[in-house]
Amino acid sequence: MASLRQIVEENVREAAPELCEKLDGHRLRCHACGHHCPIPEGQPGVCKVRFNKGGTLYVPWGYVGGVQCDPIEKKPFFHAYPGTLAYSFGMLGCDLHCSYCQNWVTSQALRDPNAVSPPLEAAPEALVRDAVSQGAKVLVSTYNEPLITSEWAVEIFKRAKAAGLVTGFVSNGNGTSQVLQYLRPWIDLYKVDLKSFDDRHYHELGGRIGPILETIRALYEMGVWLEIVTLLIPGFNDSNDELRRLAEFIAGISPDIPWHVTAFHKDYKMTDPSDTKPADLLRAAEIAKRAGLHYIYAGNLPGRVGDLENTRCHNCERVVIERSGYLVSDYTITPEGKCPDCGITVPGRWAPAFDGQIANHPFLPRNSSRMFTILNR
Ligand code: SF4
Repeated sequence: MASLRQIVEENVREAAPELCEKLDGHRLRCHACGHHCPIPEGQPGVCKVRFNKGGTLYVPWGYVGGVQCDPIEKKPFFHAYPGTLAYSFGMLGCDLHCSYCQNWVTSQALRDPNAVSPPLEAAPEALVRDAVSQGAKVLVSTYNEPLITSEWAVEIFKRAKAAGLVTGFVSNGNGTSQVLQYLRPWIDLYKVDLKSFDDRHYHELGGRIGPILETIRALYEMGVWLEIVTLLIPGFNDSNDELRRLAEFIAGISPDIPWHVTAFHKDYKMTDPSDTKPADLLRAAEIAKRAGLHYIYAGNLPGRVGDLENTRCHNCERVVIERSGYLVSDYTITPEGKCPDCGITVPGRWAPAFDGQIANHPFLPRNSSRMFTILNR
């Protein structure tokens, strides 16, 4: 039986030339994420899934670590095609190592022997065909860090766009100018997980804050629809000062970027902090409001955060989308994306009509057991 490492090393192709730079000798520099790893011959980068073999950079290809049909509200995107189904796939690996990761089984698969997630053989055409047959309007790369598997995502997104689907990343945002240019023609939506506003905290997670802030700025300037999420962890990133600086940073780019502040629950290796309480989310939302953000949402505690699951028109305060958890219970935005009362544009990407929801909870694609085979282990 092949080990997970062997499977990952066998299911590869050469990196996109835009994401790989030749250095001296057989060394290479990878530009798929903000680490810009210089990689000696025979070694992987920090993410463990891109590696230098004989002076060529090889990258993941031909498998998924998981596939699921999610309501788009789960990603979360609240200003992009509300109520639609987001067909979601991931691979394995991550460039960070957050001790509270909620997707650690796939993201930490090559670092942590307890993270056991058998890869499934997959073809781009079959994934897109399946997404369409499930009724999805959106195809999302998520569960592991999609930047480090950008070539595979682009191959799928090209076919997805030809089939009329919208495409998106759910990402830690540790990007580079090279990878954003590479993705630009093929990506519509981008969720950045802004984990903290303190570079020391990012060092604990294995990254730096600089590339993440640059990525947020660049995505906004590129016109990709952007929403930002912060998982609020008591004692880690929830001081008033840090939250104020974080919210002011987002508002300084645009007050119209939706910010989701979501509740932490003990997961993976981070079991010391207490779970986030509704009052913590309400406090963070109030700070963000004072910083000037127009669209603030509180997540992971449905029904316990007052009005912070709904979208209100920023101008006249009418509720234009009413939600409870992932359920969209009322939708009154016009086909042009305007408030039906005052007529002001609500920023986002809106469908011409709200067609109801296929599901307000995640589910595995029907027939998935027939579609995907476990790669030999
Ligand atoms: S994706 Fe990031 S961590 Fe992985 S090899 Fe490239 S630069 Fe390094």
